[in-house]
Amino acid sequence: MVGASLALALQDTPLKVMLIEAVEPESAAQPSFDDRTTALGNGARRILNSLGVWPQIAAGAAAIRTIHVSDAGRFGFARLEAAEHELAAFGYTVSNRHIGAVLWQALRERARVCLACPARVLEVQLGADSAQVRIAEASGGERRVQAALVVAADGAHSLVKQAAGIASSDSDYGQVALVANVRTDRAASGVAYERFAENGPMALLPLGSGHYTIVWSLAPDRAETLQACSCSQFCEQLQAAFGWRAGRILQSGRRAGYRLSLVRALEPAASRAALIGNAAQALHPIAAQGFNLGLRDAAVLAELIAAASDPGAAELLSQFGARRAADRRGMIAFTDSLVKLFGDRRAAAVASRNLGLLLFDLNPPAKRALARLSMGFGGGLPRLSRGLPLLPRFPAP
Ligand SMILES: Cc1cc2nc3c(=O)[nH]c(=O)nc-3n(C[C@H](O)[C@H](O)[C@H](O)COP(=O)(O)OP(=O)(O)OC[C@H]3O[C@@H](n4cnc5c(N)ncnc54)[C@H](O)[C@@H]3O)c2cc1C
Repeated sequence: MVGASLALALQDTPLKVMLIEAVEPESAAQPSFDDRTTALGNGARRILNSLGVWPQIAAGAAAIRTIHVSDAGRFGFARLEAAEHELAAFGYTVSNRHIGAVLWQALRERARVCLACPARVLEVQLGADSAQVRIAEASGGERRVQAALVVAADGAHSLVKQAAGIASSDSDYGQVALVANVRTDRAASGVAYERFAENGPMALLPLGSGHYTIVWSLAPDRAETLQACSCSQFCEQLQAAFGWRAGRILQSGRRAGYRLSLVRALEPAASRAALIGNAAQALHPIAAQGFNLGLRDAAVLAELIAAASDPGAAELLSQFGARRAADRRGMIAFTDSLVKLFGDRRAAAVASRNLGLLLFDLNPPAKRALARLSMGFGGGLPRLSRGLPLLPRFPAP
Protein backbone atom coordinates (compact mmCIF):
# COMPACT_ATOMS: atom_id res chain seq x y z
CA MET A 1 0.00 0.00 0.00
CA VAL A 2 2.81 2.41 0.87
CA GLY A 3 5.00 1.69 -2.17
CA ALA A 4 2.08 2.02 -4.61
CA SER A 5 1.15 5.33 -2.94
CA LEU A 6 4.70 6.66 -3.38
CA ALA A 7 4.78 5.62 -7.05
CA LEU A 8 1.49 7.43 -7.62
CA ALA A 9 2.77 10.53 -5.83
CA LEU A 10 5.74 10.65 -8.23
CA GLN A 11 3.75 10.14 -11.42
CA ASP A 12 3.93 13.71 -12.69
CA THR A 13 7.56 14.34 -11.87
CA PRO A 14 10.27 14.00 -14.53
CA LEU A 15 11.74 11.03 -12.61
CA LYS A 16 11.76 7.59 -14.20
CA VAL A 17 9.97 5.44 -11.62
CA MET A 18 9.71 1.64 -11.56
CA LEU A 19 7.40 -0.12 -9.10
CA ILE A 20 8.43 -3.75 -8.51
CA GLU A 21 5.72 -5.86 -6.85
CA ALA A 22 5.95 -9.60 -6.31
CA VAL A 23 2.22 -10.42 -6.10
CA GLU A 24 -0.45 -9.15 -8.48
CA PRO A 25 -2.82 -6.71 -6.76
CA GLU A 26 -5.93 -8.76 -7.61
CA SER A 27 -4.43 -12.03 -6.30
CA ALA A 28 -5.97 -13.62 -3.19
CA ALA A 29 -2.37 -14.09 -1.99
CA GLN A 30 -1.58 -10.36 -2.08
CA PRO A 31 -0.17 -9.70 1.43
CA SER A 32 -0.82 -5.94 1.52
CA PHE A 33 -4.19 -5.69 -0.30
CA ASP A 34 -5.73 -8.53 1.72
CA ASP A 35 -8.96 -9.03 3.70
CA ARG A 36 -8.08 -6.47 6.39
CA THR A 37 -9.78 -3.14 6.79
CA THR A 38 -7.67 -0.03 7.33
CA ALA A 39 -8.78 2.98 9.35
CA LEU A 40 -7.53 6.07 7.53
CA GLY A 41 -7.18 9.30 9.50
CA ASN A 42 -7.88 12.75 8.09
CA GLY A 43 -4.16 13.20 7.37
CA ALA A 44 -4.20 10.10 5.13
CA ARG A 45 -7.44 11.29 3.50
CA ARG A 46 -5.75 14.57 2.54
CA ILE A 47 -2.71 12.81 1.07
CA LEU A 48 -4.89 10.41 -0.95
CA ASN A 49 -6.96 13.37 -2.10
CA SER A 50 -3.80 15.14 -3.28
CA LEU A 51 -2.94 11.94 -5.20
CA GLY A 52 -6.33 12.22 -6.93
CA VAL A 53 -7.69 8.91 -5.60
CA TRP A 54 -9.74 9.92 -2.55
CA PRO A 55 -13.14 10.12 -4.38
CA GLN A 56 -12.73 6.50 -5.58
CA ILE A 57 -11.51 5.33 -2.14
CA ALA A 58 -14.34 7.21 -0.41
CA ALA A 59 -16.87 5.30 -2.54
CA GLY A 60 -15.96 2.19 -0.51
CA ALA A 61 -15.36 3.90 2.85
CA ALA A 62 -17.38 4.34 6.06
CA ALA A 63 -16.94 7.41 8.27
CA ILE A 64 -15.99 7.10 11.96
CA ARG A 65 -17.84 9.93 13.68
CA THR A 66 -17.72 8.65 17.26
CA ILE A 67 -15.05 6.69 19.11
CA HIS A 68 -16.06 4.84 22.26
CA VAL A 69 -13.22 3.56 24.47
CA SER A 70 -13.97 1.26 27.41
CA ASP A 71 -12.51 -1.33 29.75
CA ALA A 72 -14.55 -4.56 30.03
CA GLY A 73 -16.20 -4.90 33.45
CA ARG A 74 -14.93 -1.51 34.72
CA PHE A 75 -16.47 1.90 35.23
CA GLY A 76 -14.17 4.00 33.03
CA PHE A 77 -15.02 4.89 29.46
CA ALA A 78 -14.37 7.77 27.08
CA ARG A 79 -16.49 8.95 24.19
CA LEU A 80 -15.12 11.20 21.48
CA GLU A 81 -17.37 12.99 19.01
CA ALA A 82 -15.89 14.25 15.73
CA ALA A 83 -18.45 17.08 15.62
CA GLU A 84 -17.11 18.44 18.94
CA HIS A 85 -13.78 18.97 17.18
CA GLU A 86 -15.39 20.47 14.09
CA LEU A 87 -14.49 17.39 12.09
CA ALA A 88 -16.82 15.56 9.68
CA ALA A 89 -15.19 12.31 10.89
CA PHE A 90 -12.16 11.11 12.87
CA GLY A 91 -11.34 8.81 10.00
CA TYR A 92 -12.66 6.33 7.48
CA THR A 93 -12.57 2.54 7.27
CA VAL A 94 -11.81 0.98 3.89
CA SER A 95 -10.94 -2.58 2.91
CA ASN A 96 -7.32 -3.05 1.89
CA ARG A 97 -8.56 -4.72 -1.31
CA HIS A 98 -10.47 -1.59 -2.26
CA ILE A 99 -7.46 0.66 -1.52
CA GLY A 100 -5.27 -1.66 -3.64
CA ALA A 101 -7.73 -1.72 -6.54
CA VAL A 102 -7.98 2.09 -6.61
CA LEU A 103 -4.22 2.69 -6.33
CA TRP A 104 -3.39 0.19 -9.07
CA GLN A 105 -6.12 1.39 -11.40
CA ALA A 106 -4.69 4.90 -11.10
CA LEU A 107 -1.16 3.60 -11.67
CA ARG A 108 -2.23 1.66 -14.77
CA GLU A 109 -4.24 4.49 -16.26
CA ARG A 110 -1.63 7.16 -15.71
CA ALA A 111 1.08 5.10 -17.36
CA ARG A 112 4.19 7.16 -16.54
CA VAL A 113 5.26 4.67 -13.84
CA CYS A 114 6.82 1.45 -15.16
CA LEU A 115 4.97 -1.39 -13.41
CA ALA A 116 6.96 -4.60 -12.96
CA CYS A 117 4.38 -7.02 -11.57
CA PRO A 118 4.53 -9.87 -10.81
CA ALA A 119 8.29 -9.47 -10.42
CA ARG A 120 10.40 -10.21 -7.35
CA VAL A 121 13.48 -8.36 -6.19
CA LEU A 122 16.18 -11.00 -5.67
CA GLU A 123 19.20 -8.92 -4.87
CA VAL A 124 20.15 -5.29 -4.33
CA GLN A 125 23.66 -3.89 -4.49
CA LEU A 126 24.11 -0.37 -3.24
CA GLY A 127 27.06 1.73 -4.34
CA ALA A 128 28.05 5.33 -3.73
CA ASP A 129 26.65 6.59 -7.06
CA SER A 130 23.93 4.12 -7.98
CA ALA A 131 22.12 0.93 -7.01
CA GLN A 132 21.76 -2.30 -8.97
CA VAL A 133 18.63 -4.41 -8.57
CA ARG A 134 18.28 -8.00 -9.80
CA ILE A 135 14.67 -8.94 -10.53
CA ALA A 136 12.99 -12.30 -11.25
CA GLU A 137 10.15 -11.94 -13.75
CA ALA A 138 7.03 -14.08 -14.08
CA SER A 139 8.33 -15.47 -17.39
CA GLY A 140 11.14 -17.17 -15.45
CA GLY A 141 13.72 -14.71 -16.75
CA GLU A 142 15.78 -12.22 -14.82
CA ARG A 143 16.64 -8.60 -15.45
CA ARG A 144 18.91 -6.01 -13.89
CA VAL A 145 18.00 -2.40 -13.30
CA GLN A 146 20.22 0.48 -12.30
CA ALA A 147 18.77 3.29 -10.23
CA ALA A 148 19.79 6.45 -8.42
CA LEU A 149 17.60 5.43 -5.47
CA VAL A 150 15.96 2.21 -4.28
CA VAL A 151 13.00 2.71 -1.95
CA ALA A 152 12.32 -0.18 0.40
CA ALA A 153 8.52 -0.50 0.66
CA ASP A 154 8.68 -4.28 0.88
CA GLY A 155 7.28 -4.77 4.35
CA ALA A 156 8.57 -5.56 7.83
CA HIS A 157 10.99 -8.27 6.66
CA SER A 158 12.33 -6.13 3.87
CA LEU A 159 14.96 -7.65 1.59
CA VAL A 160 16.11 -4.16 0.60
CA LYS A 161 16.63 -3.23 4.27
CA GLN A 162 18.83 -6.32 4.72
CA ALA A 163 20.75 -5.65 1.52
CA ALA A 164 21.39 -2.10 2.74
CA GLY A 165 22.90 -3.54 5.91
CA ILE A 166 20.34 -1.73 8.08
CA ALA A 167 19.74 -3.62 11.30
CA SER A 168 16.31 -3.66 12.89
CA SER A 169 14.94 -4.47 16.32
CA ASP A 170 12.08 -6.95 16.53
CA SER A 171 10.07 -7.22 19.77
CA ASP A 172 7.40 -9.87 19.69
CA TYR A 173 4.25 -8.76 21.56
CA GLY A 174 3.30 -12.41 22.11
CA GLN A 175 -0.07 -11.60 20.54
CA VAL A 176 -1.97 -12.44 17.37
CA ALA A 177 -4.47 -10.00 15.85
CA LEU A 178 -7.58 -11.91 14.91
CA VAL A 179 -9.40 -10.08 12.11
CA ALA A 180 -12.94 -10.78 10.87
CA ASN A 181 -16.03 -8.99 9.63
CA VAL A 182 -19.12 -9.47 11.79
CA ARG A 183 -22.81 -8.68 11.46
CA THR A 184 -24.88 -7.53 14.44
CA ASP A 185 -28.63 -7.01 14.78
CA ARG A 186 -28.06 -3.23 14.69
CA ALA A 187 -26.45 -1.78 11.57
CA ALA A 188 -23.16 -0.01 12.26
CA SER A 189 -23.58 3.74 11.93
CA GLY A 190 -20.38 5.67 12.42
CA VAL A 191 -19.36 4.45 15.91
CA ALA A 192 -15.98 2.73 16.41
CA TYR A 193 -15.46 0.83 19.66
CA GLU A 194 -12.10 0.25 21.28
CA ARG A 195 -12.49 -2.18 24.17
CA PHE A 196 -9.92 -3.48 26.58
CA ALA A 197 -11.04 -6.98 27.52
CA GLU A 198 -9.57 -9.68 29.78
CA ASN A 199 -8.08 -11.60 26.83
CA GLY A 200 -6.69 -8.55 25.01
CA PRO A 201 -7.71 -5.27 23.37
CA MET A 202 -10.27 -5.30 20.56
CA ALA A 203 -11.57 -2.75 18.07
CA LEU A 204 -14.95 -2.92 16.36
CA LEU A 205 -14.92 -0.60 13.38
CA PRO A 206 -17.96 0.32 11.27
CA LEU A 207 -18.04 -0.71 7.59
CA GLY A 208 -19.96 0.82 4.70
CA SER A 209 -22.09 -2.34 4.47
CA GLY A 210 -23.50 -1.70 7.97
CA HIS A 211 -21.36 -4.57 9.32
CA TYR A 212 -18.31 -4.23 11.57
CA THR A 213 -14.76 -5.41 11.24
CA ILE A 214 -13.04 -6.59 14.41
CA VAL A 215 -9.36 -6.56 15.26
CA TRP A 216 -8.87 -8.60 18.44
CA SER A 217 -5.37 -8.97 19.89
CA LEU A 218 -5.01 -12.26 21.72
CA ALA A 219 -2.48 -14.75 23.08
CA PRO A 220 -1.50 -17.00 20.13
CA ASP A 221 -3.11 -20.19 21.51
CA ARG A 222 -6.37 -18.36 22.26
CA ALA A 223 -6.36 -16.85 18.76
CA GLU A 224 -5.80 -20.28 17.26
CA THR A 225 -8.77 -21.71 19.18
CA LEU A 226 -11.01 -18.84 18.14
CA GLN A 227 -9.92 -19.14 14.52
CA ALA A 228 -10.71 -22.85 14.45
CA CYS A 229 -14.07 -22.87 16.29
CA SER A 230 -17.48 -22.70 14.60
CA CYS A 231 -19.02 -19.40 13.58
CA SER A 232 -21.64 -19.53 16.34
CA GLN A 233 -19.06 -20.39 19.02
CA PHE A 234 -16.89 -17.51 17.83
CA CYS A 235 -19.82 -15.06 17.94
CA GLU A 236 -20.64 -16.21 21.48
CA GLN A 237 -17.06 -15.73 22.67
CA LEU A 238 -16.83 -12.34 20.99
CA GLN A 239 -20.13 -11.25 22.55
CA ALA A 240 -18.94 -12.33 25.99
CA ALA A 241 -15.70 -10.37 25.62
CA PHE A 242 -17.10 -7.30 23.87
CA GLY A 243 -20.50 -6.95 25.54
CA TRP A 244 -23.71 -5.63 24.02
CA ARG A 245 -22.92 -2.05 23.05
CA ALA A 246 -23.12 -2.85 19.33
CA GLY A 247 -26.10 -5.20 19.71
CA ARG A 248 -26.29 -8.99 19.28
CA ILE A 249 -23.46 -10.45 17.23
CA LEU A 250 -25.14 -12.69 14.64
CA GLN A 251 -22.55 -13.81 12.12
CA SER A 252 -18.86 -13.72 11.37
CA GLY A 253 -16.95 -13.90 8.08
CA ARG A 254 -13.57 -15.53 7.48
CA ARG A 255 -11.14 -15.15 10.40
CA ALA A 256 -7.46 -14.37 9.75
CA GLY A 257 -4.60 -14.09 12.25
CA TYR A 258 -1.56 -11.76 12.16
CA ARG A 259 1.37 -12.29 14.54
CA LEU A 260 2.16 -8.93 16.17
CA SER A 261 5.55 -7.44 16.84
CA LEU A 262 7.21 -4.05 16.81
CA VAL A 263 9.81 -4.09 14.05
CA ARG A 264 11.90 -0.96 13.83
CA ALA A 265 14.75 -0.22 11.43
CA LEU A 266 17.65 1.36 13.27
CA GLU A 267 18.40 3.72 10.34
CA PRO A 268 15.92 5.39 7.94
CA ALA A 269 18.26 5.20 4.95
CA ALA A 270 21.59 3.95 3.61
CA SER A 271 23.67 4.80 0.56
CA ARG A 272 21.17 4.99 -2.36
CA ALA A 273 18.31 3.44 -0.32
CA ALA A 274 15.43 4.84 1.77
CA LEU A 275 12.97 2.91 3.96
CA ILE A 276 9.24 3.68 4.07
CA GLY A 277 6.15 2.05 5.58
CA ASN A 278 6.51 -1.30 7.31
CA ALA A 279 10.09 -1.64 6.03
CA ALA A 280 10.92 1.28 8.33
CA GLN A 281 8.54 0.44 11.19
CA ALA A 282 5.81 -2.13 11.68
CA LEU A 283 3.48 -1.27 14.57
CA HIS A 284 0.85 -3.02 16.68
CA PRO A 285 -2.57 -2.22 15.12
CA ILE A 286 -4.05 -1.08 18.49
CA ALA A 287 -4.11 2.57 17.42
CA ALA A 288 -4.60 1.89 13.67
CA GLN A 289 -1.61 4.06 12.74
CA GLY A 290 0.78 1.86 10.69
CA PHE A 291 -0.39 2.75 7.20
CA ASN A 292 -1.19 6.34 8.20
CA LEU A 293 2.42 6.75 9.35
CA GLY A 294 3.82 4.95 6.28
CA LEU A 295 1.85 7.23 3.99
CA ARG A 296 3.51 10.25 5.63
CA ASP A 297 6.91 8.58 5.00
CA ALA A 298 5.93 8.33 1.33
CA ALA A 299 4.63 11.93 1.17
CA VAL A 300 7.82 13.40 2.66
CA LEU A 301 10.11 11.28 0.48
CA ALA A 302 8.11 12.18 -2.64
CA GLU A 303 8.40 15.87 -1.82
CA LEU A 304 12.17 15.66 -1.37
CA ILE A 305 12.97 13.57 -4.44
CA ALA A 306 10.60 15.40 -6.78
CA ALA A 307 12.69 18.52 -6.27
CA ALA A 308 16.11 16.91 -6.55
CA SER A 309 18.50 16.55 -9.45
CA ASP A 310 19.85 13.40 -7.77
CA PRO A 311 17.04 11.63 -5.85
CA GLY A 312 19.52 9.32 -4.08
CA ALA A 313 21.98 11.98 -2.92
CA ALA A 314 23.35 11.43 0.59
CA GLU A 315 22.32 14.93 1.73
CA LEU A 316 18.72 14.33 0.58
CA LEU A 317 18.54 10.97 2.38
CA SER A 318 19.82 12.50 5.59
CA GLN A 319 17.16 15.26 5.28
CA PHE A 320 14.56 12.53 4.81
CA GLY A 321 15.67 10.78 8.01
CA ALA A 322 15.66 14.05 9.93
CA ARG A 323 12.19 15.07 8.74
CA ARG A 324 10.67 11.71 9.63
CA ALA A 325 12.42 11.16 12.98
CA ALA A 326 10.01 12.90 15.38
CA ASP A 327 6.85 11.47 13.82
CA ARG A 328 8.25 7.94 13.73
CA ARG A 329 9.60 8.11 17.28
CA GLY A 330 6.38 9.64 18.64
CA MET A 331 4.03 7.20 16.92
CA ILE A 332 6.10 4.14 17.87
CA ALA A 333 6.23 5.25 21.52
CA PHE A 334 2.51 6.13 21.58
CA THR A 335 1.43 2.80 20.09
CA ASP A 336 3.81 0.72 22.17
CA SER A 337 2.77 2.41 25.43
CA LEU A 338 -0.93 1.82 24.61
CA VAL A 339 -0.22 -1.91 24.12
CA LYS A 340 1.60 -2.07 27.45
CA LEU A 341 -0.89 0.05 29.40
CA PHE A 342 -3.94 -1.83 28.18
CA GLY A 343 -2.28 -5.25 28.25
CA ASP A 344 -1.55 -4.97 31.96
CA ARG A 345 -4.19 -6.74 34.07
CA ARG A 346 -2.61 -5.92 37.45
CA ALA A 347 -5.09 -4.22 39.78
CA ALA A 348 -3.16 -0.94 40.11
CA ALA A 349 -2.73 -0.60 36.36
CA VAL A 350 -6.42 -1.35 35.78
CA ALA A 351 -7.50 1.22 38.38
CA SER A 352 -5.23 3.98 37.07
CA ARG A 353 -6.25 3.22 33.51
CA ASN A 354 -9.92 3.55 34.41
CA LEU A 355 -9.29 6.78 36.20
CA GLY A 356 -7.33 7.84 33.12
CA LEU A 357 -10.27 7.06 30.83
CA LEU A 358 -12.67 9.01 33.06
CA LEU A 359 -10.34 12.01 33.25
CA PHE A 360 -9.75 11.77 29.54
CA ASP A 361 -13.50 11.92 28.99
CA LEU A 362 -13.66 15.14 31.02
CA ASN A 363 -10.55 16.66 29.53
CA PRO A 364 -11.11 18.52 26.22
CA PRO A 365 -7.39 19.31 25.52
CA ALA A 366 -6.48 15.61 25.77
CA LYS A 367 -9.32 14.75 23.41
CA ARG A 368 -8.27 17.50 21.01
CA ALA A 369 -4.71 16.12 21.01
CA LEU A 370 -6.07 12.69 20.07
CA ALA A 371 -8.24 14.18 17.34
CA ARG A 372 -5.09 15.76 15.83
CA LEU A 373 -3.15 12.49 15.99
CA SER A 374 -3.75 11.79 12.32
CA MET A 375 -1.48 14.70 11.37
CA GLY A 376 1.47 12.95 13.01
CA PHE A 377 3.92 13.82 15.72
CA GLY A 378 5.90 16.57 14.00
CA GLY A 379 8.73 16.97 11.54
CA GLY A 380 6.75 19.38 9.33
CA LEU A 381 3.62 18.42 7.44
CA PRO A 382 4.39 17.27 3.88
CA ARG A 383 2.88 19.36 1.07
CA LEU A 384 0.58 16.48 0.05
CA SER A 385 -0.93 16.48 3.60
CA ARG A 386 -1.70 20.18 3.16
CA GLY A 387 -3.54 19.61 -0.10
CA LEU A 388 -0.68 21.16 -2.13
CA PRO A 389 0.92 19.68 -5.26
CA LEU A 390 4.25 17.94 -4.72
CA LEU A 391 6.14 20.95 -6.04
CA PRO A 392 4.85 24.35 -7.07
CA ARG A 393 5.86 23.65 -10.70
CA PHE A 394 3.92 20.35 -10.90
CA PRO A 395 0.13 20.39 -11.05
CA ALA A 396 -1.62 18.23 -8.41
CA PRO A 397 -2.03 14.68 -9.84
C1 LIG B 1 -4.32 -6.67 11.78
C2 LIG B 1 -3.79 -5.36 11.29
C3 LIG B 1 -4.63 -4.26 11.19
C4 LIG B 1 -4.13 -3.02 10.77
N1 LIG B 1 -4.97 -1.95 10.74
C5 LIG B 1 -4.47 -0.74 10.39
C6 LIG B 1 -5.32 0.42 10.38
O1 LIG B 1 -6.52 0.35 10.68
N2 LIG B 1 -4.76 1.62 10.04
C7 LIG B 1 -3.44 1.74 9.70
O2 LIG B 1 -2.98 2.85 9.41
N3 LIG B 1 -2.63 0.66 9.67
C8 LIG B 1 -3.11 -0.57 10.01
N4 LIG B 1 -2.29 -1.66 9.98
C9 LIG B 1 -0.91 -1.51 9.49
C10 LIG B 1 -0.85 -1.60 7.97
O3 LIG B 1 -1.48 -2.75 7.49
C11 LIG B 1 0.60 -1.58 7.50
O4 LIG B 1 1.22 -0.46 8.04
C12 LIG B 1 0.66 -1.52 5.98
O5 LIG B 1 0.19 -2.71 5.41
C13 LIG B 1 2.09 -1.33 5.58
O6 LIG B 1 2.16 -1.38 4.24
P1 LIG B 1 3.52 -1.50 3.45
O7 LIG B 1 3.11 -1.21 2.06
O8 LIG B 1 4.61 -0.72 4.06
O9 LIG B 1 4.00 -3.04 3.62
P2 LIG B 1 3.26 -4.38 3.26
O10 LIG B 1 1.80 -4.22 3.43
O11 LIG B 1 3.93 -5.46 4.02
O12 LIG B 1 3.54 -4.59 1.71
C14 LIG B 1 4.80 -5.00 1.22
C15 LIG B 1 4.66 -5.27 -0.26
O13 LIG B 1 5.96 -5.58 -0.77
C16 LIG B 1 5.88 -6.72 -1.63
N5 LIG B 1 7.19 -7.39 -1.56
C17 LIG B 1 7.79 -7.93 -0.48
N6 LIG B 1 8.99 -8.45 -0.81
C18 LIG B 1 9.16 -8.22 -2.14
C19 LIG B 1 10.21 -8.51 -3.08
N7 LIG B 1 11.34 -9.14 -2.71
N8 LIG B 1 10.04 -8.15 -4.38
C20 LIG B 1 8.92 -7.50 -4.77
N9 LIG B 1 7.90 -7.18 -3.92
C21 LIG B 1 8.01 -7.56 -2.63
C22 LIG B 1 4.74 -7.56 -1.04
O14 LIG B 1 4.19 -8.42 -2.01
C23 LIG B 1 3.76 -6.47 -0.59
O15 LIG B 1 2.87 -6.11 -1.61
C24 LIG B 1 -2.76 -2.90 10.42
C25 LIG B 1 -1.91 -4.01 10.49
C26 LIG B 1 -2.42 -5.24 10.93
C27 LIG B 1 -1.48 -6.42 11.02
